[in-house]
Amino acid sequence: MTATVRTTCPYCGVGCGVLATPDGQGGAGIAGDPEHPANFGRLCSKGAALGETLSLEDRLLHPALNGARVSWDAALGTAAAELQRIAEAHGPESIAFYLSGQLLTEDYYVANKLAKGFVGTPHVETNSRLCMSSAVAAHRRAFGSDTVPGCYEDLDEADLIVLVGSNAAWCHPVLFRRMADAKAKRGTHLVVIDPRRTQTAQEADMFLGLKPGSDVALFSGLLVHLADHGFRDRAFVEEHTAGLDTALDRARQIAPDLAAVAIATGLAPQAISAFYDLFARTRRVVTAFSMGVNQSMQGTDKGNAIINCHLVTGRIGGVGQGPFSLTGQPNAMGGREVGGLSNMLAAHMHFAPEEVDRVRRYWNAPRIITGEGMKAVALFEAVRAGRIKALWVMGTNPLVSMPRADHVREAIQGLDLLIVSDIMANADTARARARTTVLLPAQGWGEKDGTVTNSERRISRQRRFLDSPGEARADWAVLAEVGRRLGHGKAFAWPSAAAVFREHAALSAFENGGTRDFDLGALADLSDGAYAAASPVQWPLPKRGGPKPRLFSDGRFFTFDRRARFVAVQPPGLAEAAGGAHPFVLNTGRVRDHWHTMTRTGKSQRLSAHRAVPFVEVNPEDAAFHGLTVGGIARVSTAHGAAELEVMVTDAVAPGHLFMPMHWNATYASAARVGALARGVPDPVSGQPELKATPAAIAAV
Ligand code: SF4
Repeated sequence: MTATVRTTCPYCGVGCGVLATPDGQGGAGIAGDPEHPANFGRLCSKGAALGETLSLEDRLLHPALNGARVSWDAALGTAAAELQRIAEAHGPESIAFYLSGQLLTEDYYVANKLAKGFVGTPHVETNSRLCMSSAVAAHRRAFGSDTVPGCYEDLDEADLIVLVGSNAAWCHPVLFRRMADAKAKRGTHLVVIDPRRTQTAQEADMFLGLKPGSDVALFSGLLVHLADHGFRDRAFVEEHTAGLDTALDRARQIAPDLAAVAIATGLAPQAISAFYDLFARTRRVVTAFSMGVNQSMQGTDKGNAIINCHLVTGRIGGVGQGPFSLTGQPNAMGGREVGGLSNMLAAHMHFAPEEVDRVRRYWNAPRIITGEGMKAVALFEAVRAGRIKALWVMGTNPLVSMPRADHVREAIQGLDLLIVSDIMANADTARARARTTVLLPAQGWGEKDGTVTNSERRISRQRRFLDSPGEARADWAVLAEVGRRLGHGKAFAWPSAAAVFREHAALSAFENGGTRDFDLGALADLSDGAYAAASPVQWPLPKRGGPKPRLFSDGRFFTFDRRARFVAVQPPGLAEAAGGAHPFVLNTGRVRDHWHTMTRTGKSQRLSAHRAVPFVEVNPEDAAFHGLTVGGIARVSTAHGAAELEVMVTDAVAPGHLFMPMHWNATYASAARVGALARGVPDPVSGQPELKATPAAIAAV
């Protein structure tokens, strides 16, 4: 293969189109796809360096059983036999799958079907729980569905963009350049709300450096301001929403006046007032939110506090306006579409009896589940407690990324069966051992075929342009083979990724009379040729009437009465207050040039040069007080673990705050895994763990 292939970047949820030209020697030239509507030819540093990450160094190339190379037949024979034995001995609910927003939609679909329809376990969880599950829960509470209302074009057309808990300049760089273009072309105001003065904050017109966890107070105060100062869209609220009075009463309790908001957020009253005025008098507002909102024990309420402000002004569904969840991973959205979270069933359906029956009939499933499974934090606690006996981890590295990562490491050793599907042999999770451990080599980016969905509901193709190395196989095909070995040949007989996609699309349209948001009916009969040539397209795509770049422009939502809901949110707070032995608040996040646990980006010297070693950001006042110097080593400790990192002194973090990146894994710096430090108290609605505010101490080493 040497012809240029149109594909999609495997990193963040912007979902940029990529042109890959194989060099015939296992590498490829990389360029942005000028025709892809997410990026129009642009790539960020990570996307541009994709060609530098394609080497086979450290790749997992052959199946292994308990550390010894075996044939695929032996590996899958053991996996299927052990799954069968464990289901019979301990019940199907002793089996769990832990998936990833890096998987393709086809992989996700087959895993979900196998687990929830045929093995009979509800415990299908994903690292997307750590990424955007609070946005999902907020959408569902407000709209009756997990629907992102707008599209990227709204960022081009907005007069005000409010970024909350988002360092888009580093984490969604190509999208941030679109925002910068809007600023240059039409004078769009950019407001950044974040405890940390990030690169994004430095490019903003207004920066509100609020206290961690106080977002709900800021947006409750905004709701009160909008409702009381003549900015309520009375017709929209009356005709298309419910629950404003209760939500407003609660907002008044949380934020009775500017002074109360100032105390709660730590912001100056004048700054709050300026933000409220700007928001109130700008019709075209997009409020984009990301991990600073989601990765919180109050993430769902934060999302709803934002959505409430758009509902009260009727600013949703129109050009250049609406709340907008910036998804972290390339296919977190596709995972949601197939139902790859433990509180979903399939195709945006949950557990109403008619939904369970519909999916059961569609799949002809012998063991359809009828209720939710465990969410990520609870799932790994159940592994530790011995209630989960078998775990299949696909395309993710929970030994680094889960909160209390050392507990996860110990827990996994006690499993009867650990199956790991990965592209890298040196990923921490791939090196873990249980009583029986099956390692399965997966195809990586450029080797596999399928689809991903980005933050604006746009489905794009990832296409193969390299040969599969060693014995690597597509994840969906491996899952299907296990399904067949478990005796379900007919249900897992797809000949291609295209056939899997057709079944997924047809399920989304099955008995869907427009009351469910997710509908790909127009793609249910896609030929193999049309799938191969498919251009990026946004859902919903019903048989008639799609696609729709914006939803809710008709004021009809997906609740039973088609009205959106205001949500009465809880007062702001943090899971654990800093003080005593742990007086600092430890924040975590990404750096510009690395992705997740660095198993791919760590291969590029150019990317690694941006931040070569794990570091901790400390305010100059704190550095002076604790004797910390630039480039010195500090020990950061919490009640849950400790890490040793290089000191970076910067006023990007406020006094009393620390920041450390999430990326470094055991290969690069075993003593710097951020997951080991965070307790990860879950949000009570979404189950998404708090990763942004752990009480911590710091000392020079
Ligand atoms: Fe890839 Fe995201 Fe960069 Fe686009 S912005 S090139 S999707 S990492």
